[in-house]
Amino acid sequence: MTAEASSNTVDNTATAYPQAPLLTPAAFPPRVNLFGLDRAALREQFEKMGEAGFRADQVMLWIYRRGVSDFEQMSNIGKALRARLATHFVIRPPELVTEQVSVDGTRKWVLKLEQAEGKPVTMIETVYIPEATRGTLCISSQAGCAMDCSFCSTAQGGFSRNMSTAEIVAQVWFAGKTLGGDFQNERVISNVVFMGMGEPLANYNNVLPAIRILLDDFGFGLSKRRVTVSTSGLVPFIDRLAGDVDTALAISLHAANDKLRDQLVPINKKYPIAELMEACKRYLAGKDRKAHIVYEYVMLDGVNDQPEHARELAKLLNGQGQAAKVNLIPFNPFPEARYKRSTPEAITRFSEILRAKGLLTMTRRTRGDDIDAACGQLVGKVQSKQKKRLGDIPVRVQ
Ligand code: SF4
Repeated sequence: MTAEASSNTVDNTATAYPQAPLLTPAAFPPRVNLFGLDRAALREQFEKMGEAGFRADQVMLWIYRRGVSDFEQMSNIGKALRARLATHFVIRPPELVTEQVSVDGTRKWVLKLEQAEGKPVTMIETVYIPEATRGTLCISSQAGCAMDCSFCSTAQGGFSRNMSTAEIVAQVWFAGKTLGGDFQNERVISNVVFMGMGEPLANYNNVLPAIRILLDDFGFGLSKRRVTVSTSGLVPFIDRLAGDVDTALAISLHAANDKLRDQLVPINKKYPIAELMEACKRYLAGKDRKAHIVYEYVMLDGVNDQPEHARELAKLLNGQGQAAKVNLIPFNPFPEARYKRSTPEAITRFSEILRAKGLLTMTRRTRGDDIDAACGQLVGKVQSKQKKRLGDIPVRVQ
């Protein structure tokens, strides 16, 4: 029985009147976690309760701009309403399982998600990468991933389940609190990227409200260029995203021909490169002139890092001009990996070819090399210990 239910259980022994039916836990719906409601949804809830919509805005400001999770601290909300809110809602961050801190300041957290009764323990990773001019939080959108990219540590563990909007948003709140920054002024988290575990567009209905909360002035208030959705190439959802919200887009490209990309990113068999590029053009069509797409390209020794691959990539992106940026990512090896990181010389050569063809090209600095840096690697370690202990074996969904 939940705490909420037990506190409301009727004491049938204390009355001589006809007994009320015994209330079961099912009669008390679980309290809604407010991290899961964007402003429109929260206003709707308040209006259903007979409260003015602006009260919902006030509550959002307390949560996202002041870092408050206790209704009692919301001093501009009346006492009676605070009590009602606590009956219906909760502001519940995820539970920390473990933390790794790199010498370069990168922090990686394994967080435990909400656990329904009888369901297995589910964990995800969230990573904070501090740099001189910004702090980037890399968040997860699914527990595991079904996309099966052959170079990816997360893919090794298979897919467990979609994360709820509340679970996605709560990562940002948790990180903000843990890093100890001021939610209003001195921003420790300036950028949020959906590059953690999972394919965000495969969990579109939960990711979209989460993006809205990240961008909302009453939410985290991040600028649209500082929230990046990274996809392996789910073409129909790239189109939907373009119509629903204005945010930055990154494409996990990793190869410029279908034969190689089919091996590295198997969703390519369903949405091949030509279709993906058309979707990228449509995505940019309605945006302002500054909008661009980042093409991510993991550098795998002897696989996709040769000069001919660079020339092929330049040819593919030719025509997108300043709207295309290439991000070369030195591969982070993990124990079962079948690939090796490209040599620094190969990465430099590759980058120079792209630059000579006029492409804006960055090489990502490797971060957190002294911790389990590959995405999904740490959760794989912790979860596998859990599996042995709890007999919890996530099902692989393809
Ligand atoms: S690279 Fe991204 S989309 Fe591909 S398996 Fe890993 S988490 Fe999923």
